[in-house]
Amino acid sequence: MLDNLTNRLSRVVKTLRGEARLTEANTQDMLREVRLALLEADVSLPVVREFVSRVKEKALGEEVANSLTPGQALVGVVHKELTSLMGGDLGPHASELSLAQQPPAIILMAGLQGSGKTTTTGKLARWLAEGGHSQNGHKSGKKKVLVVSADVYRPAAIEQLKTVAAQAGVDFMPSSADQKPEDIARNALDFAKRHHHDVLIVDTAGRLGIDEAMMQEIRALHALLKPIETLFVVDAMLGQDAVNVAKAFNEALPLTGVVLTKLDGDARGGAALSVRHVTGKPLKFVGVSEKLAGLEPFHPERMAQRVLGMGDILSLVEEAQKAINVDEAQKLAAKMKAGDKFDLNDFRAQIAQMKNMGDMSSLLEKLPAQFSQAASQVDSKQASRQIRRMEGILNSMTEMERAKPELLKASRKRRIAAGSGVPVQEINRMLSQFEQMQSMMKQMKKGGMAKMMRAMGG
Ligand code: GDP
Repeated sequence: MLDNLTNRLSRVVKTLRGEARLTEANTQDMLREVRLALLEADVSLPVVREFVSRVKEKALGEEVANSLTPGQALVGVVHKELTSLMGGDLGPHASELSLAQQPPAIILMAGLQGSGKTTTTGKLARWLAEGGHSQNGHKSGKKKVLVVSADVYRPAAIEQLKTVAAQAGVDFMPSSADQKPEDIARNALDFAKRHHHDVLIVDTAGRLGIDEAMMQEIRALHALLKPIETLFVVDAMLGQDAVNVAKAFNEALPLTGVVLTKLDGDARGGAALSVRHVTGKPLKFVGVSEKLAGLEPFHPERMAQRVLGMGDILSLVEEAQKAINVDEAQKLAAKMKAGDKFDLNDFRAQIAQMKNMGDMSSLLEKLPAQFSQAASQVDSKQASRQIRRMEGILNSMTEMERAKPELLKASRKRRIAAGSGVPVQEINRMLSQFEQMQSMMKQMKKGGMAKMMRAMGG
């Protein structure tokens, strides 16, 4: 998603080296690129206008630090403003789900038909049941979840929720087309109280367009249930049309958050910016696949970085941690934090983990643009052959040699080469890769992640 924006902005970054500050003259072209990029990403025109004028105001007169081009400095401003537009201005916990309600905490799902409401109900239920949510940054444990459908117009929708609930492993409250939505809600609430559910998620009927009767009905449900969360589910593929839909729902209901679905499609993602802008409500989640696991908490900062081609480093790390041995990763992270020496044993552990990472393509997509471009040119078969050879070399070393690579003089290298069946040059090549990594680790320790990202951002 937002590939065009990323490409355009990368082009912007490269322009105009050697100027000391951002001026009308040197930002004009770049601002035009930003404007086009946002329009291309299907952000609505008024939002683009306001955004660009905000960026311009912030940028003019800004000093361009020695190491940066004006392009990079401008992208810094764009990044900050984009993060803020996507909800960064709301504070670090704004996109968390609130469940602070006398149990059951009630979540009301609103949105047009086909937006992904029922799917998202299942995804959320699963996520809560597995304890994936957090409050004020702290995990708050697995929840007992009940879901119910108040969509009395489409019996198929009730059946669909039943299926989804079974897949999610949560409780499903049957309802039927001959009931009134409010009765369904009342029954479900009563049932949830009696059976000590922590959370009740109420899926509602949607229409193909904005429709007064639907709004009336969901308002009545809202008045009855008094949900702690009223989530507006919107299809990212709607692009600019999302603006009107969001406006209508926002006026009809006191929304508490937005879920943007189908970001995995060819949506240009502009909807994220527009919806946030017109509703003023935080985006809380994004849907990234049809599967129940395809729900991710929304991070404004990360989304802005991704847009700008710096890559979604933090998401990448999280995803990698899911795939790799968590114990090992934590040990390594602790070691890096403590500033311990990064030795060949750690290098070997890392290589072993690289082998375990499942879906490389989704990981690669999140790398900064310049890396993922390079990575896409890598022949993955060859890469895994390479990894196997490195492992062979490392396995032919003793524990001591791995802990103290400086021991590796010519005679030891010859022995290792013989043991792993590779020429000595290949051992040298691997050692120099290792040294690069080691110095990167040192840099990270010294300057932290932020500094490294800045270094990569050009
Ligand atoms: P509802 O009418 O609002 O309840 O929408 P549904 O939950 O039935 O979803 C409509 C269609 O969108 C279904 O085919 C879903 O599988 C699909 N869908 C929902 N969320 C996502 C998503 O995040 N990614 C993708 N690719 N498909 C989704």
